[in-house]
Amino acid sequence: MILKQLELSGFKSFADATHLDFTRGFTAVVGPNGCGKSNVSDAIRWVIGEQSSKHLRGSRIADLIFNGSASRKPVHRAEVSMTLSDVPPGLRIANIPNLSEEIKVTRCYHRSGESEFYINQVPCRLKDITDLFLDIGISPKVLTVIEQGNIQDIVTSKPDDRRMWIEEAAGVLKFKARKHEALRK
Ligand code: ATP
Ligand code: MG
Repeated sequence: MILKQLELSGFKSFADATHLDFTRGFTAVVGPNGCGKSNVSDAIRWVIGEQSSKHLRGSRIADLIFNGSASRKPVHRAEVSMTLSDVPPGLRIANIPNLSEEIKVTRCYHRSGESEFYINQVPCRLKDITDLFLDIGISPKVLTVIEQGNIQDIVTSKPDDRRMWIEEAAGVLKFKARKHEALRK
C-alpha cells in the first residue's frame, strides 16, 4: 500500500488548494523553518482520525483552519484528502460499494463546528474511517506517523506502553480496539 496523494485546502498554513503527489519510494519534504513541513504530517494524522488538537499541535480544533495572514483573510473550512493506492483486497465497508485498490479518504471541518467525512466521495462517519484504517494497520494512536521525540518515548517507555508498540507490529491492536468497543456497549 502506498500514500499516493495528499490534497489540502484551508488546513493550517495551506490557505489555497494544494496537491502533493508522492511518487513510489522515499519522499522527503524539505524547506525553511516554519514553511509548513510538520503541517503536512499533521494533515495525515488528522485525516486518519486524530481527535486531539494537542497531538495536532494546536490548542483547539479551530486551529486546524487557516486563520489568516498579513495578506490573506481567514478561511471557513479545512479539508484534507488522502489517496492510498495498492490497498490490500478484501476490505469491506458498509454503504461504500466497490472499494477499489485506490481509496480516497476526506475529512472537513467548518468553523461553525460541523465535520464531514467521506470515503471515495461517499459520506460516512469518522468511525468508518478509523475502522477502515484499523483493518489496514493505520491508526493515529500508533506509529503510522513517527514524530520528533517518538523514538525517545519508545526507548524510555514503561513496559506496558512498550507492549502497545509490539502489539501494533503484531497486528493485535485492531482486535483490542474492537473488544474495548464491544465491552462499552
Ligand atoms: P520547522 O522546520 O521549524 O519544524 P515546519 O516547516 O515544520 O518548521 P510547521 O510547524 O509545519 O513548519 O508550520 C508552522 C507554520 O504554520 C507557522 O508559520 C504557523 O503560523 C503556521 N500555521 C499553523 N497553524 C496555522 C493556521 N491555523 N493558520 C495559518 N497558519 C498556521
Ligand atoms: Mg517541523
